[in-house]
Amino acid sequence: MNDPRIQDADPEIASLIEKEAKRQHEKLRLIASENYAPRAVMEACGSVLNNKYSEGYAGRRYYEGQQNIDEVEQLAIERLKSLFGVDHANVQPYSGSPANLAVYFAFLKPGDTVMGMALPSGGHLTHGWNVSITGSYFNSVQYGVRKDDHRIDFDEVARLAREHKPKLLFCGATAYPRLIDFDKFAEIAREVGAILVADIAHISGLVAGGAHPSPVGRAEVITSTTHKTFCGPRGGMILCDEKHKAAIDKAVFPGLQGGPHNGTTAGIAVAAKRAATDEFKAYAKNIVENSRALADRLLHHGFALVTGGTDNHLAVIDLTNKGVTGKKYAKALDRAGIVCNYNSVPFDPRKPFDPSGVRIGTAAITARGMGKDEMVRLADWMNDVAENLDDEAKLASIAAAVKEMCDAFPAPGLDVR
Ligand SMILES: *Cc1c(COP(=O)(O)O)cnc(C)c1O
Repeated sequence: MNDPRIQDADPEIASLIEKEAKRQHEKLRLIASENYAPRAVMEACGSVLNNKYSEGYAGRRYYEGQQNIDEVEQLAIERLKSLFGVDHANVQPYSGSPANLAVYFAFLKPGDTVMGMALPSGGHLTHGWNVSITGSYFNSVQYGVRKDDHRIDFDEVARLAREHKPKLLFCGATAYPRLIDFDKFAEIAREVGAILVADIAHISGLVAGGAHPSPVGRAEVITSTTHKTFCGPRGGMILCDEKHKAAIDKAVFPGLQGGPHNGTTAGIAVAAKRAATDEFKAYAKNIVENSRALADRLLHHGFALVTGGTDNHLAVIDLTNKGVTGKKYAKALDRAGIVCNYNSVPFDPRKPFDPSGVRIGTAAITARGMGKDEMVRLADWMNDVAENLDDEAKLASIAAAVKEMCDAFPAPGLDVR
């Protein structure tokens, strides 16, 4: 049978994959939602599990031949239950957004009221932002951060919750550099009879590793991606109390999806096993320490940080005082081998496609084993870039120095050196 390797079957794609591996090796990847999945996770994802259909849940499938898949999915579920200390885990959502959509489908009818953090304050699209299905099929009420310190405005959360009585209250964020106070959210949700949903997409690795307080026991439903700080495959999960198990499972399948991606499920199981180790705890702690070290050195260089710093893996830089827009700075950084995304800052006077800030994160660079010394060098380079935005020779020389540092810290899961 003719079954060539990708190098022969499709040299164009093979070469692009190789180039991408090289790019991921020689750049400092600061996109806060990205990481390096370990080799074992990648192997699970690219395995024969890809070939199996298994609509339904273990022991209750619509197709035969589930002898191995049922065990894979059960392992993923049991490991997550014990890792996070929850009653139930659903590992089938295709990603973070479908996981959230399943929660809407489990508890709301179109037009029902949901509350979440507004996108410009650091919330996610799926928390009811207007361009998302969650903001157009549901009655969405959005809270934000305070003007003076950019922290979540709990007075506003409580006031809006009392006024609008949402059925679901979402907390958790995509560009918020501080700890999420799950106790305060739980108190408000309880008062107004809302189900509190903690979306820990960005921080699930920190929660699992003990570097961020856990929402378990506070939020009745917890959603997450599995590919951010959690270091797993691209996927999603929903953790919940026993009383919501049936509604959540039914909402994911048959409510929203067909067959689960079994390779991904296996990758989640591998990631969950690793997340229970002391090595992972140290990783989670190092992410936050590196984030603080990077933030401190950026402050030293006169960069303005949203909320003045960070408690987690990410920071948002407001570049207004540096006289450059987020987009121009992100593009110059990319030419210097430092990759991040431009990002709105709270109360940003500029448009989302050309905002005032950039968002940075330390999950991926910490996965390479980089530490405080490297964070200082990185912040110094970031300052050099801000001062030499149009000096291509200078940017190229920084990129060369970045590559040299990256050569000393090989990334997990990559085959280039
Ligand atoms: C990343 C993210 C998601 C969505 O994840 P996708 O896998 O990109 O769909 C949902 N919620 C939050 C808070 C996120 O940061």
